[in-house]
Amino acid sequence: MKLWLPRHKCRICRVEVESTQVKAHYQTTHPEYAKWGRQLRTLMWLVLGYGVALVIVDALYLRSLNQILQYIVPAYLFGAIFLLIGLHLRKLVSARDAWEKTHPLPNEKRTEES
Ligand SMILES: [Zn+2]
Repeated sequence: MKLWLPRHKCRICRVEVESTQVKAHYQTTHPEYAKWGRQLRTLMWLVLGYGVALVIVDALYLRSLNQILQYIVPAYLFGAIFLLIGLHLRKLVSARDAWEKTHPLPNEKRTEES
């Protein structure tokens, strides 16, 4: 019986990659996207770092100053997460578009007659 390994479908070229090879695939086939992935991770750590700092500041000072300020932390986190997701989707779509322009699928089904 063959061991079932979860396979990852590449988000850009839609090739199935073994889960252990996903990182290598993005780095060799889509270096721009891999670079963005690293930038995204850095941004996420920054967001988390500022989030933690805000929570501490919020717990120490803000809550006693103004009730409305307690919404700053969740608002900041939600805003930052949505912004990151938006940026990521834009990057993903543009990477996919660029890939499709440079690598037209040879076996692509043609639905329209020409
Ligand atoms: Zn790929």
